[in-house]
Amino acid sequence: MVKIAVIGGGASGMAAAIRAAQRPACTVTLLERQARVGRKLLATGNGRCNLTNTQAVPARYHGADPAFPAEVLAAWPSARVLELFASLGLRTVTEYGGRVYPASGHAASVLDVLRLALERPNVEIVTAAPVERIARRDGRFTVVWPGGALEADRVIVACGGCAGSKLGGVTDGYTLLERLGHSRTALRPALTSLRTAPEYPRALKGIRAEAGVKLLRGETVLAEAQGDVLFTETGVSGTAIFEISRAAAAGGEGLAVSLCFSPDDEAAVLADLRARRARWPSLAANGILTGAVQSRLGQMLCRSAGISGGTQCAALGDGELRALARAVRDFRLPVIGVSGFETAQVTAGGVRTAEFDPETLRSRLVPGLYACGEVLDVDGDCGGFNLQWAWASGLTAGELR
Ligand SMILES: Cc1cc2nc3c(=O)[nH]c(=O)nc-3n(C[C@H](O)[C@H](O)[C@H](O)COP(=O)(O)OP(=O)(O)OC[C@H]3O[C@@H](n4cnc5c(N)ncnc54)[C@H](O)[C@@H]3O)c2cc1C
Repeated sequence: MVKIAVIGGGASGMAAAIRAAQRPACTVTLLERQARVGRKLLATGNGRCNLTNTQAVPARYHGADPAFPAEVLAAWPSARVLELFASLGLRTVTEYGGRVYPASGHAASVLDVLRLALERPNVEIVTAAPVERIARRDGRFTVVWPGGALEADRVIVACGGCAGSKLGGVTDGYTLLERLGHSRTALRPALTSLRTAPEYPRALKGIRAEAGVKLLRGETVLAEAQGDVLFTETGVSGTAIFEISRAAAAGGEGLAVSLCFSPDDEAAVLADLRARRARWPSLAANGILTGAVQSRLGQMLCRSAGISGGTQCAALGDGELRALARAVRDFRLPVIGVSGFETAQVTAGGVRTAEFDPETLRSRLVPGLYACGEVLDVDGDCGGFNLQWAWASGLTAGELR
């Protein structure tokens, strides 16, 4: 009987355990630090779990060796991952940009089918077991946590990264692998919100808008994205911001984010503003964007263009409308930093992939040792790419080739 220990009961660890348990004559012990498995999974996709993306190609992934994920993604493309989930009972829907969600609209459905799949006689789940040490002697492993230990023939490290620390993101996986001789690259928060000069975001806290987003140094565009923007107490968040956050984290000082709230060019926005002035001559001037953008955002755009509520639309000159058209197309906020691991969705950096075989995820340094998921130096774009990596790499490691 081959004994397999999977350390970490998150997305990649559960996938690895399910796959490993399909092997004949083996037992799998899944060790989870927290009181229950899959806690972070429940929070993904704003509680809906964007579990994969139908366009998950290697170009959507980052790390010191950007080609590293290619073989795993070719063996477990999103279509095959979705077939597996369908066989476990999960119904899914595919939305804009290839983002896949459970049809129920609840992340819990994903966790439920994984937990059901793990209810097998040869799988044991041990929770509240923060593994502190993995030792290898005479070709076997000893895995130790406070109050327990087990012997194993193979070990899969699936401890995740340190992003989402409120949900249990920790550095344990890096430490465990480093003690076995592995090394890691620098760790940075990725897919995270930006901290900006507080004046505007604070007043707009809680407001969401669809926007084109650019990260700028002076007038040079460093990164751009289109999508959801959420104003927060400290700056801006949302999927479009997450997409430019990697460049912001690496970008140093002197950055600004530009938000564009209209798909039309500046001349068309100006023509629309003139029509609005004619339609509502006696309306308070800072209401001129009524119906075009959320009302508090409209007032804020007016304020940034120097338009107050003290006058009426009819009193607005063309110069003021031009300034407003510019603000609608290029609302700038100086960036003062990126948020940390607490709110980041993923860790950029991790255990060096050169130390693992890209086809099997077997350690090149320690026979019988495997790693999968975010603990490795692989991180994906926003849109289901990180969970796709977690499933695909977990399923690959679970094959124990
Ligand atoms: C708020 C939020 C929303 C997200 N939304 C999405 C999304 O919609 N789509 C998407 O693709 N990605 C999303 N992500 C990213 C995605 O959740 C992760 O990339 C993915 O969960 C990584 O899987 P993993 O198995 O490597 O790590 P995790 O899922 O973090 O699992 C690691 C597990 O190991 C356990 N562990 C750690 N140390 C030990 C130890 N010493 N002993 C035992 N157990 C240990 C942890 O408690 C945890 O349960 C989101 C992340 C966050 C934080």
